[in-house]
Amino acid sequence: MIDIPAVCDDCGGVFASGLVADESTDITIIGFRTTCPYCGGSGGIPDGSYDFIGDTIQVLAANPYSRERLERVRTILDELRSAGSNTSEEVVAALEEEAPELARIVRDHLVPRTPADLYALLTLLLGIVTLILKRG
Ligand SMILES: [Zn+2]
Repeated sequence: MIDIPAVCDDCGGVFASGLVADESTDITIIGFRTTCPYCGGSGGIPDGSYDFIGDTIQVLAANPYSRERLERVRTILDELRSAGSNTSEEVVAALEEEAPELARIVRDHLVPRTPADLYALLTLLLGIVTLILKRG
């Protein structure tokens, strides 16, 4: 069971949305909004197909990704976010070398419709990588 992470629009915090998925596929989430526990602002799960979230965490956690590699992935995501990257192609290209699985997921499943969606997506990915690093 995975409590799908949501991203706050106001403070950028990543938190459990309360929406739980259980090894399901093809869960399409559109317009899910909830209140941020950190700042009380408004956050949400980026629109998309979320069957991959569980896989993503498994892939990264069970993968021979070293801590150093995850740190580099985090840096890449952070840089993309700071640079205001606005196409998923840029994200895929940047991730291809260090994290081909993530790049594939972004390419296959995530089609951000707006730069704001992509920003939320990058924040979400950062949050997941950061959680894994903390656990390790
Ligand atoms: Zn917040």
